[in-house]
Amino acid sequence: MTSPYINETVLSVHHWNETLFSFTTTRHAGLRFKTGQFVMIGLMVNNKPLLRAYSIVSAHYEEHLEFYSIKVQNGPLTSRLQHLQVGDSLMLSRKPTGSLVLDNLRPGKRLYLLSTGTGLAPFMSVIRDPDYYESFAQIILTHGVRVTSELGYHDFISNELPENEFFGEQVRKQLIYYPTVTREPFKNQGRLTDLIRNGQLFKDTGLPDLDPQEDRVMICGSPAMLKDLVVLLQERGFVEGTSNTPGDYVIERAFVEK
Ligand SMILES: Cc1cc2nc3c(=O)[nH]c(=O)nc-3n(C[C@H](O)[C@H](O)[C@H](O)COP(=O)(O)OP(=O)(O)OC[C@H]3O[C@@H](n4cnc5c(N)ncnc54)[C@H](O)[C@@H]3O)c2cc1C
Repeated sequence: MTSPYINETVLSVHHWNETLFSFTTTRHAGLRFKTGQFVMIGLMVNNKPLLRAYSIVSAHYEEHLEFYSIKVQNGPLTSRLQHLQVGDSLMLSRKPTGSLVLDNLRPGKRLYLLSTGTGLAPFMSVIRDPDYYESFAQIILTHGVRVTSELGYHDFISNELPENEFFGEQVRKQLIYYPTVTREPFKNQGRLTDLIRNGQLFKDTGLPDLDPQEDRVMICGSPAMLKDLVVLLQERGFVEGTSNTPGDYVIERAFVEK
């Protein structure tokens, strides 16, 4: 019987701060995924597989895989995963899945990618996919965190991505990156829901208020953030999209409260 898991090898590990890290692994030639999807990844613990859902950070065309992870104190997986070293083995499920895919959205003018914490992960793949720049005139990536050290990939998004040799020009013209911090001074401050409700996000970006006629939205964040944003979108007439019926917005939990 074929194993339900693939084994990949860790190629690099980067610790952002005491609560967040990223790592890259080899990518099995047969592993296909759509931008925005997640897979189950994990380790053997006491001779049993221990797996958790993880969004894929890397672009669908890259030869390696990349993940962005929290370090939960006493978390069954991440208390171990945070000690990954180059050369270690990582288990991966064979079937990526998830709702943050382009097919689940109706065509639109602008695409909002609203994230908090590790909810940034799937959108790192989105902002590296040229198809998205072809599909939308503008892409607005927001990332809400508590302290500035949690702004993973900030320098990559601000400095490296706009210089990409293949689609850097589209990034420079079409991508708006809007990081915001709640518990420290920063150029943008406050919770995303507040910044949308009080209009600050639109004042800062020069964009009109959210409109289901033109805007499409992907959301990935804490259960509380998802709940608040869904209420806000539904008040404005946005309809959730599914694989059967594409809509105006799609959501994915960045984690589940246990
Ligand atoms: C669809 C989906 C995609 C996910 N993608 C990612 C990802 O890309 N990166 C990632 O780090 N995690 C992601 N997660 C969460 C991940 O599956 C695990 O929960 C996480 O790795 C912690 O595992 P654990 O066994 O150490 O602790 P768990 O027992 O799984 O979690 C313990 C507690 O820690 C908190 N927690 C767990 N994950 C997070 C998180 N990411 N941010 C803040 N608090 C958290 C929650 O309160 C949870 O109840 C995703 C979850 C889902 C459902």
